[in-house]
Amino acid sequence: MTAEDFREADEYRAIIANDPCVYCGNPTEQIDHIKPIAGGGSDRWDNYAASCQPCNLSKYTTPLLLFLARGGFASNRGTLEERIYARRC
Ligand SMILES: [Zn+2]
Repeated sequence: MTAEDFREADEYRAIIANDPCVYCGNPTEQIDHIKPIAGGGSDRWDNYAASCQPCNLSKYTTPLLLFLARGGFASNRGTLEERIYARRC
């Protein structure tokens, strides 16, 4: 990564630090790598997502779509299927 990449990553972390967790809506506690570093993901800004600790720990190195399909996020708003169904009604 270049110095510009690091600067952008730092700026983006600061911007999303107070956003709700992208997975469950709880307060953000950590920055998640959407594509895990262990899975070849980068440390660039466009691989960051605001996350609560339970979601980040639950996701760990799981690919994003598999994590979402399993409903492993720390939601008190139901499973992914329940939330999709609720949106349609
Ligand atoms: Zn969460």
